[in-house]
Amino acid sequence: MKPMLMEPISSLSEEEACRIRYVLMDIDDTLTTDGKLSAESYAALWKLHEAGLIVVPVTGRPAGWCDLIAREWPVDGVVGENGAFVFWEAEGHRLHTFTHPKAISNADPRLVALRDRVLAEVPSARLARDQFSRLYDVAIDFAEEEPVLPLSAAQKIKSIFERGGAHAKISSIHVNAWLGEYDKLSMAMHYLMERFGYDDAHDAASVVFVGDSPNDEPMFAHFPMACGVANLLAYLDLVAHLPHFVTSHESGAGFAEFTKILLERRSS
Ligand SMILES: [Mg+2]
Repeated sequence: MKPMLMEPISSLSEEEACRIRYVLMDIDDTLTTDGKLSAESYAALWKLHEAGLIVVPVTGRPAGWCDLIAREWPVDGVVGENGAFVFWEAEGHRLHTFTHPKAISNADPRLVALRDRVLAEVPSARLARDQFSRLYDVAIDFAEEEPVLPLSAAQKIKSIFERGGAHAKISSIHVNAWLGEYDKLSMAMHYLMERFGYDDAHDAASVVFVGDSPNDEPMFAHFPMACGVANLLAYLDLVAHLPHFVTSHESGAGFAEFTKILLERRSS
């Protein structure tokens, strides 16, 4: 096990908090707790939104879910399917979508063949129930429903996809696989630049990303103010780039803790 390098979120300074303009976060096991969006976690999103921060979930969840999130949640956009697209609602409740130019349909026969190989070779692996509302990726469920498979099974699934030439990432519940050249980070950065004038060379400390698992690693590695919720500790061996901060509580309670500290530091 590698040494513990993360700092408690309570060490966030007022100066650091005041520099934050963008709050990005993963959804599963970061906002949600055991599959549910808790009242305190959803309230935290509203508090961030009402404080004037730009709030953008960045998730492996499908296009069908992102339509709802962009329209109904207090957010300024949502990056879905691990970076394949971003949806946002603009004036007049108009839903805008931008799809990554390198996104490839999940009906591509190469990805379909790899999906079938995974289902044949990994006992108890199954297609995620939300697959019907996905456009670009394939999601294999290993922990959203029973039976919960060990992380070693998730790693086997990931390696079958990767050996076949696909990208694959392990979240807390699914292994997501896709063919195009993009990830959560590349699409999140593109969106912040195009929509809000974000300049990565100067503004990286104005972004905080909160996440919990290996598929969040590109975000942890890039943003100096990134924060893990405490359940990230379960994946220490699978994450080479840890975030700068960590909460003391897990999942939704950890996100609420992060929000409370950020907003308190900004108002003092
Ligand atoms: Mg997650």
